Amino acid sequence: MNFQTILEDIVATLQPELGAAGTVASYIPALACVDPRQLGIALHTCRGEEAAAGDSATPFSIQSVSKLFTLTLAMQRVGDALWERIGREPSGNPFNSLVQLENEQGKPRNPFINAGAIAVADRLVTHAGSGEGAKADILALMTSLSGEPIGFDAEVAASEAATGYRNIALANFMKSFGKIDNDVAPVLDTYFNQCAVRMNCRQLARAAGFLCRDGAHPFGGRSDVTNERQTRRINALMLTCGTYDAAGDVAFNIGLPCKSGVGGGIVAVVPDQLTLAVWSPALDATGNSLLGMKALELFVAKTRLSVF
Ligand code: GLU
Repeated sequence: MNFQTILEDIVATLQPELGAAGTVASYIPALACVDPRQLGIALHTCRGEEAAAGDSATPFSIQSVSKLFTLTLAMQRVGDALWERIGREPSGNPFNSLVQLENEQGKPRNPFINAGAIAVADRLVTHAGSGEGAKADILALMTSLSGEPIGFDAEVAASEAATGYRNIALANFMKSFGKIDNDVAPVLDTYFNQCAVRMNCRQLARAAGFLCRDGAHPFGGRSDVTNERQTRRINALMLTCGTYDAAGDVAFNIGLPCKSGVGGGIVAVVPDQLTLAVWSPALDATGNSLLGMKALELFVAKTRLSVF
């Protein structure tokens, strides 16, 4: 299959729709000014081949796509004990909901809703001994997996910290149930910074590469990122919980484990074959990238690659 041609075709097909529909996330002020008329796509195969088209080299705020990588780090560090604090069920509620958390005594439904990712950040802070240590661990993982230096966007992190009232509430709420061990300040600082990681599609497709090769590091010769069982579990969580309240539709229409973020990025996995990263900042009503999802649908239609 000529993946380069396929990706270029997808970008050309969607080009006329750029900027026509959807809206960029505006509840984080620093994201509100991103130009919506951008679309990038990149792919990394389990044999190490790469292809990319459109704005694939433009860095963006990965936002909740980061939850996939912090989950990976926490699985490495904490193992199965992680699941004492966090569930594995789709939430069926908005990603930042407080109501469900109250009903379930401060145990988040899954690691991809905000409460779950904040609980994961708490584990990382405990393991690293400080918020600064946890942030350094996150950047070290992203840099190792993408093979290029990766950093936080300080402006986005500050913007989230200044306006993240609901996330601050979620962290305090879990703390009141005894479900957060550390002070909430370093936990939230870790969470806001992980959301503010800046990467482009090429880097993201490569960084997620361990998910299509049973946990093996995208660059051969290094120790595995996760074991086979952990890798299967991350993919399962992406399929069932990775795309907000659209996970059912995404499984139905695309049929790949995906993790999306409100920056407009989506990572998708074809197990044993390849990983894809798409980015287009305008979101649909479910908070997923409008053209990103269309690009994935086109990719699956053209290649017939799907887990089903
Ligand atoms: N930083 C965003 C928040 O906490 C992430 C949201 C997302 O991408 O789902 O609200």
